[in-house]
Amino acid sequence: MASPRPQAVDGFGRRFRYLRLSVTEVCNFRCDYCLPNGYRKTPGPAFLSVDEVERLVRGFADLGLSKVRLTGGEPTVRKDFTDLVAAVAACDGVNKVAVTTNGWNLDQRVMDWRRAGLTHLNLSIDALERTTFARLTGHDRLESILRGLDRALEADFTAVKVNAVLLRETAEQGLSRWADFVRDKPVSIRFIELMRTAENADYFERHHVGGRIVRDWLTLRGWTPREKQVEDGPATEYIHPDHQGAIGLIAPYEPGFCDGCNRLRVTSRGKLRLCLFGEGGVDLRPLLSSDADQEALVERVRLSLGGKIQGHGLNQGDFGDTPNLAAFGG
Ligand code: SAM
Repeated sequence: MASPRPQAVDGFGRRFRYLRLSVTEVCNFRCDYCLPNGYRKTPGPAFLSVDEVERLVRGFADLGLSKVRLTGGEPTVRKDFTDLVAAVAACDGVNKVAVTTNGWNLDQRVMDWRRAGLTHLNLSIDALERTTFARLTGHDRLESILRGLDRALEADFTAVKVNAVLLRETAEQGLSRWADFVRDKPVSIRFIELMRTAENADYFERHHVGGRIVRDWLTLRGWTPREKQVEDGPATEYIHPDHQGAIGLIAPYEPGFCDGCNRLRVTSRGKLRLCLFGEGGVDLRPLLSSDADQEALVERVRLSLGGKIQGHGLNQGDFGDTPNLAAFGG
């Protein structure tokens, strides 16, 4: 009898089905809470090539991972981004290919990505008001990004979602604007609680607000939580009978947030990060240059999972060696 296929399971019995793969550290936006002065080149080898990404994803698919999200930095600044999507989509066992993007070229490129095999799209839009958006991101591009969102909604994706960072100054106004926005649009808007990193201490102090503000606002207005699927991310989504879309909350500071962790992360230079807010990483790159190393790759990933910690230490002020979320893939 053939031996059972290895699975990606950690020491706490959590099974991993979802890979978040950073494909670049470069970002063309200057979000206040992430890269307020823009991307600065960091030393190190080139970002993973399309061939390396393909081998990497095949290895993770052998361990039962079926959803892959391309992130960064801004993944779509890569000239070969469409090739990356196609390479991931071609891997046996992968049935969900997702991207997280700031949407700078979405209206021009979204149909190409869809044809290449992209199935899920997350778009980051921190404010629905033009001047606030421009101030937060350093780019007066809200109009073209919203046009891109409309094109994405026509492109027959399995899911189109929007991420908005929850900030004290914009929370109340943001909630009512987004609730109006999803009345007739089948989009899920997810508020992400602002996370502390090595570089945003002052900003965090001034702008962090707990996710409870979102939950209270929604509950008071008749929104109810929707049940989760196994490959879903950490968002709790709320729905309302009068609204086609949903509003969700990702609240990493709440107790138990990591209990249902179902994702692994690899950096744009090929390091397996067992937690976004951990330290260092397991170097997979030496095993990505040849198909002959595929079994060794699977084994290295499988054995590394024993080192995954139970939960991040954000509540104790420990954010690992993460300078900002663009560095390892947010
Ligand atoms: N450039 C892409 C984008 O903008 O969607 C992908 C990378 S970005 C790091 C991924 C997500 O992380 C974005 O939605 C961004 O707003 C969010 N993000 C970045 N820094 C954050 C922080 N300190 N706390 C919470 N969310 C953050």
